[in-house]
This record gives sequence, structure tokens and C-alpha cells, in this order.
Amino acid sequence: MKYIDGFRDPVVAAGIRARLDAVAAGLQAWNRPVNIMEVCGSHTMAIARYGIRDILPKNVTLISGPGCPVCVTPTSYIDTAITLAERGVIVVSFGDMIAVPGSSSSLAGCRARGGTVEIGYSPMRAIELAEAHPDREVVFLAIGFETTTAPVVAMLELAIRRGLRNLSLLTAFKLVPPALTALLSDPEIRIDAFLCPAHVSAIIGADAYKPFVETWKVPCVVAGFEPLDILYGILGILEQAACGEAAVANLYARVVTAQGNVHAQSLMAKYLEPVDAAWRGIGVIPASGLGLRPEYADYDAGRRHGVVVGLGAENPACACGEVLKGKQRPPDCPLFGAACTPDHPVGPCMVSSEGTCAAYFKYIVN
Ligand code: SF4
Repeated sequence: MKYIDGFRDPVVAAGIRARLDAVAAGLQAWNRPVNIMEVCGSHTMAIARYGIRDILPKNVTLISGPGCPVCVTPTSYIDTAITLAERGVIVVSFGDMIAVPGSSSSLAGCRARGGTVEIGYSPMRAIELAEAHPDREVVFLAIGFETTTAPVVAMLELAIRRGLRNLSLLTAFKLVPPALTALLSDPEIRIDAFLCPAHVSAIIGADAYKPFVETWKVPCVVAGFEPLDILYGILGILEQAACGEAAVANLYARVVTAQGNVHAQSLMAKYLEPVDAAWRGIGVIPASGLGLRPEYADYDAGRRHGVVVGLGAENPACACGEVLKGKQRPPDCPLFGAACTPDHPVGPCMVSSEGTCAAYFKYIVN
């Protein structure tokens, strides 16, 4: 554990904090807070867990973004998955998804009523089930950002190589850069800088953020998940702000390269193509998702089973959409901690292990 301890050293943290205070003092002339969006749900969790908001200068605000893949998946997708499970299809899902409420039920509720819903800790679980049940159809719930997309596509390639004909994907893959563009284009959201996602950046590479510094003049700093990673990332952003600069800085070079994982990128490009995608609370963002290329349409669960993931309507009582855009903090939602808790979630942001509401409930408010 010595390696991890090095990234949690309180003496070093105190030194960074002093530097943060000094740089932030020079930003008082802004006469407003510096708004830094942490895009990734894992960053949101780490920031809450380590109490990082509590030690930041008063004029620095961290706002949480849409970086939780479960949270941005629309209700209509869950409804479609339930329809498939009720028809006798074996539906395989990552664990967080099964507790997320759909329009009238969750996948967990569907399973309790006899629907075949299996949890997979790896996409390979879908292959195991397809091989074990050659007389049944298996659908993998293919959600996630670039990080998750790559292993799912690797699973698909293996399924094709093994000649599996009873396995398909219900795709709702999302791409991070188009979402950042949509947020920057929203006049109601003021984002001064991005603390860029670590896992996603390992796939797409730090250079993927260059358009944001060139077009939007917004500093983009890639940081890891340990407390010192995050503090250094925030310090890097403030130092850029103090100089009036906007650049891409990769402070997670032990994992992230400028070009990213080119093997994963080429694998994804082989099977998938950009599609417009619906994001919960944000709406449809052009070319912000990935769908199967026409030559792999046989593995498209929607086509094979004649189902369509519509736009659907979200629960109007849940403010997840505002939370995902950084417009509202979870405690501002009237249901937070009362009608909505991790045991009885109303929206996905309270369910997911990367959800902003779950982070506030677990580490900040309770
Ligand atoms: S507290 Fe619950 S109802 Fe409110 S925004 Fe979060 S998930 Fe939705």
C-alpha cells in the first residue's frame, strides 16, 4: 500500500493547499468563483470521499458533470431492456443498472417478477451465457463511455469469432467530448475549466481535449483519482487561470498518453460508428453516441428483436438532469435524503456508485 499512500500524503496535501490559496488569492479580481467541472463520476466520488471541496479556497467551485454512464442513460432504455427480459430474452447488465428506476419498474423489479436479468461484472458474462444457453437469445446492455465501450467491443469480436448467433447488444454508448461541447454551448452553465476524466482519457488520449482549449479557451487538466492527483489537477487549472491561459495538461501520465489507446480506438472504429444519442436531462446530442455499423446489424438487439429505444419521458420529480449539467446540487433537490435515498432511489444519480446524489448522500450530507 506504500504506492497508494504516496498519493494520500497529508503533508504534501497541506503544501498543495497552501499553493491553492496563494494562486486563488490572485484570482480575487475575477469577482466571481472559478467554476471547475469534474466531468467523471469517479472524480465526483473521490472529491466527496476525501472532503476536497472543504479545503478549497472560497472562490473555487467544483461542479459535477455528466460522467456517470448509468446516470445519463435514459429511462426509455431501461424500459426497453425490461421489455426484452419479459419476452424471455436473457438480459445481461452491469450491476449498477439493475436498480435504476424505469418508467414503472427497474430491472431488479423485472427479475423479481421472473424476468431473466443477469448481472455481469465483465462483458464476458454475456458470452458465457450465450454459450450455456444456445437455445436462448442473450442481450448485453451495452452502455458506457469510451472506457467501457472498448471491452464490450472486444467481447463482440470474440462472439463473432466463436460464431455465436444468439448474442446481441442493446447499444447506448456515449462519447464524452460531444457532451462537453453541449455543456459549453449552454448559456445557463458557466464552466471555466474541466478536470478531465481519467479512465476515458486513457482511451481517447489527452489530445482529444485540444479543441476545447483552442475553441473555447477552457483549461483542460487530466488528473487521476487519488486526493493528491485531484489537488494537483485543480492547482494546474488555477495556475492557468491566473495566467489567462488555456491548455491541455496531462497530470495522469502514469496512465494517460497524448494519443490514448490506439488499439482500443481502432477496435471501436471497426465495429461502431457515431450516432446521435439521448442523454438523460441533456437531450439528444449530435454524434455523441456509438452504434453498430450496418455490416454488424445482426448483433444489434433493437433490430433483431424489433424494439426501439425511444426518447421517453423522465420522472419530473427527479432533478437528475439539472444535477448532471451541474446546474443544481443534490441537496437542492426536495427529494434528496427524504423520498430519495440509496435504499429507495427515485433517480439514477442516487443509484450509481458514480452518481452525484449518491456521493453527496454517502460522504457529504449524511
Ligand atoms: S436526489 Fe434523487 S430525485 Fe433528486 S435529483 Fe438526485 S436522484 Fe433525482
